[in-house]
Amino acid sequence: MMLGVLALAIGLVVLVDRLYGHSTLAFAAGIIALVIANAPMLRFNCPACGKNLFFRDVLVVPWPNRICSACGHDCDSANSQNR
Ligand SMILES: [Zn+2]
Repeated sequence: MMLGVLALAIGLVVLVDRLYGHSTLAFAAGIIALVIANAPMLRFNCPACGKNLFFRDVLVVPWPNRICSACGHDCDSANSQNR
């Protein structure tokens, strides 16, 4: 699902890039689309300490951490159990 969203965002950037020429605006739109698509996933929290997995120190990443940056819990195995 994440790969599909990523492919969609990249496709959007390429499409706008071809229509309007190279533009950072198109790139920004792709990033915004990714953020909107990821909004429901912002509830991803570390099952051990509750830290949001999208926050890596002071940075917010568009994909969840596999290893919790706060306590080192392997969240990847926990997430796969939910599906
Ligand atoms: Zn944790």
